[in-house]
Order: sequence, then C-alpha cells, then structure tokens
Amino acid sequence: MIYDRILIRYGEISTKGRNRHLFVDKIKSSIQRVLNDFPDAKIEAGRDRMFVVLNGENGREIIERIKGIFGIQSLSPAIKTSWDLEEMKEAALNLVKKVYKEGDTFKVSARRSDKSFPLRSQEMNHTFGAHILKNVPGIKVDVHNPDIHLQIEVRKKNAAYFSCENIPGPGGLPAGSSGKAMLMLSGGIDSPVAGYLSMKRGLEIEAVHFFSPPFTSERAKEKVIQLAEILANYNGGYFTLHIVPFTEIQTLIHKQIPQNYTMTSTRRLMMRITDLLREKFSGLAIVTGESLGQVASQTLESMYAINAVTSTPVIRPLVTMDKEEIIKMAKEIGTFEISQLPYEDCCTIFVPPAPKTKPKKEKIEQFESHIDFEPLIEQAVNETETIRIKPGRKQEEEFEELF
Ligand code: ATP
Ligand code: MG
Repeated sequence: MIYDRILIRYGEISTKGRNRHLFVDKIKSSIQRVLNDFPDAKIEAGRDRMFVVLNGENGREIIERIKGIFGIQSLSPAIKTSWDLEEMKEAALNLVKKVYKEGDTFKVSARRSDKSFPLRSQEMNHTFGAHILKNVPGIKVDVHNPDIHLQIEVRKKNAAYFSCENIPGPGGLPAGSSGKAMLMLSGGIDSPVAGYLSMKRGLEIEAVHFFSPPFTSERAKEKVIQLAEILANYNGGYFTLHIVPFTEIQTLIHKQIPQNYTMTSTRRLMMRITDLLREKFSGLAIVTGESLGQVASQTLESMYAINAVTSTPVIRPLVTMDKEEIIKMAKEIGTFEISQLPYEDCCTIFVPPAPKTKPKKEKIEQFESHIDFEPLIEQAVNETETIRIKPGRKQEEEFEELF
C-alpha cells in the first residue's frame, strides 16, 4: 500500500456543537478497541477528521476492522504531504499511476478548508489534472463518471491529503453516546435488527432473553448467544446478555390466565422483568423488535395492553418497517442465517390457538390481579444468568475443543 494513513470523515456529529469532542472521543475509543493488535497504528483525532496513521501496519485489514464503526460517514486510504506544490504534484501522480489501468478515465476534486493555501479549489483541479494528463500516457478526463476519482483535501497546519477511494461507513452516532437501553432479544429475525439499529443511534445495548427449559432447548439458548456475538461485532467485540429463567412464570400463566390472554400476559411479564433488569443495570429505555401489525401480539391494542406495565420509554426501531425490509437488513448485518435456524422460542411453544388480537388492558389487569407473580418475578431476576461476550470468545472455544 502506498498510503500512509486512513482518513476518516464523521457523520451527523458535525451538527453537535459543544458536545462534539465527546462524540469524537467515543469514535476514537471504538477504533482503538478494535485496533489493539496493530500496535504501531496511531490514531490522530481532530475536530473534523480523524486519521489512523499506519506506521507500516496493514491498511486494508485496518479498514476492514473499522469501516462498520458507528459515527463514521466514510473513510479513505490516503497519503499526507506538506503544502509544497512539487511534493503535492508528485504524490498525486504516484497515486494515480498506482491505480491506473489502460483506458481509465479520471477526475480531480480538490477542497481547501484553510483558505490561506494559495490555490483555490478550481485552480488545484486544473493544476493537478494537467500534471496527471501530461505524465500518464493515454489517460483521459471524465468529470461525470471517472474510473479514478482523485480527492485532495488541503487542511491547516501545512497538510494535504490525497486519496482515490471513498469507502462508505454506516453513519449514525458513536457507540454509547446516547445512553443505555435493554434490548429484548428473542431468537427471531426482528429483535437483532432492532438491536443493530438502536446501537447505530448511539445506544449502549444489553440484551435480555427469556428462556424456558425444558420447553426450549440448550440449542435455542446457544442460538441467542450466537446472535449476541454478531451484535458484539458492532460494539468492538463486547456485548452483555442476560438470560432469564422463565419456565415457572410461563407455567403459572398457562394455569391461571384464560387461554386467549396468555400471550398478552406473557409479554407483560417479560416487559416487567426487563424493566427491573433495566433498573438494576442503570438503563433508561427498553428496545423491542416489534413491527406494527405483524402478528397478534403486535397490533396497536396489544402494544397498548403490554406497554401498560411500565412508563419506561419503549423504543421500537422496526415499528413502521415491512418484513421484507427487516429481512434485507438482517441479511446485511449478518444475523439472518442464525435467526432462521429452526430452534424453538419460549413464546412460540406456548402460543395459544387463538390469541386475542385486540386484548383489553382492563381485562388482563383483572386476570393478573388474582395471581401473585411477585415472588416468581423476584426469583427470575435473582437467577438471571449474565453472559459477557468479549472479543475472541469463539477462538477460545475452538481451541479448547482441539485438546
Ligand atoms: P422476533 O423476530 O424479534 O422474535 P417476532 O416477529 O417473532 O419478533 P414476537 O414473537 O411477537 O415477534 O416478539 C416481539 C418482540 O418481543 C421481539 O421482537 C422481542 O423484542 C420480544 N421477545 C419475544 N420473545 C422473546 C424472548 N424469548 N426473549 C426476549 N425477548 C423476546
Ligand atoms: Mg419471535
């Protein structure tokens, strides 16, 4: 690689005024976390741009590691020069020569953020364009659809950056910049996507999964752990998953609640317990994978009856999305294949033949008022197992299996 650094452009944080440095610090620490094993790479964080200076480390591998980090709008492998025009011309030419293939067209887009640089953007385009035309035989200009797009950024303190590639990042807000929420994570297609989208908006997520052995198997639990591992990829490899033993509560619901209301009650208890865990682990919201009208538990009447157990904000990133859109996104983020594995979920097992699509809040409250759930709720919270996923968990396990 002839590049000496990766240039990183921020997304929406450009609008964040005084909090800006906090956002920049968050992006920097996310990058630092995933580049632990590149000891020579150095991060330089500025107000408008961040750089990973390679110092001989592998730029392609570094790009692969960091290109999914939230808050990054785009990134480019780049070369830095001073404001010396001859040095700049040489860098531009070397870079274009390096990527040029016979018949390629090119275009130069220059910007100066420091107006004390003597050439204006247009003048730079002409100067560097002419230099390339003169020295690369056969190359032609195409301003609309060039094969090679040379971008030049002239910035303050005698620095200019040259790049030919623009790799899109995910945008969004940096990890953890919006506070903490509990994601209700099932083994289905939707909730992992809801988790991804809320993380993209800067939420720090811990997941809560309800598990009902022996009605649901160890394999079903393993599936949720695998989903959590994928979500961890979007969080520097780290993720926390709380597994709540739910068998006794579910059994009690099925004994005591009229059949067509069991699903509503199950969801209400899940939400109550999630809310207690949220409080215990200092979160401020609950995230679910609900999408309006998708199934009986997701009609507006159901949401109303279920949501009534808490005044905590419940965030539903998928609420207006169609299943097709959700599936597309699940494929893109890499959770779809795992979600599709046919392992039983604690809710599907107990689904009544005709769940109420328009449950009444007053009715379910009345049914539940005859049952003392409190001790079981307390027990479920106390017996919740917390799994902390860290980078390299997979490798460690495979290693163990070899011996
Ligand atoms: P998903 O694909 O996320 O499972 P779904 O379409 O199957 O969603 P439901 O089964 O009605 O829909 O679940 C709605 C939401 O309730 C889920 O998106 C998830 O947030 C939560 N949920 C369902 N089952 C569980 C579970 N076993 N543990 C934790 N949360 C759950
Ligand atoms: Mg489900």
